Amino acid sequence: MATVFGKIIRGELPSEKVFENERILAIKDIHPVAPVHLLIIPKKEIADLQSLQSEDFALLSEIISVAQQLAKQFKIEKGYRLLTNNGSEAGQTIFHLHFHLIGGRQLGPMA
Ligand code: 5GP
Repeated sequence: MATVFGKIIRGELPSEKVFENERILAIKDIHPVAPVHLLIIPKKEIADLQSLQSEDFALLSEIISVAQQLAKQFKIEKGYRLLTNNGSEAGQTIFHLHFHLIGGRQLGPMA
């Protein structure tokens, strides 16, 4: 099913891109919860972490590598949070796998 992120990936909706290659797009979150709030999104349509198949596990390594690069680029490498919400009970609202990269202020407790 087409999600907002699917439309952004296909260029049908605008976004502030901070990284892109053949497999991954990273954009600024439209409602940032911290001075740096980026979304790292595999272009492949995968609903959530729990749906990820073993053949896609390499994407996770690449997402972590992109997160490290972006953390340096945005000067938050000393402290940041990289997280994904899996399922609506965890607060997921867009059912296309994505990781939040959050930093730039003292972060509070997890939940
Ligand atoms: P989730 O709640 O699924 O873990 O995260 C979805 C995130 O996407 C939220 O932080 C929300 O602010 C962000 N978001 C929703 N719609 C858009 C949009 O159209 N553009 C961008 N850049 N971010 C969006």
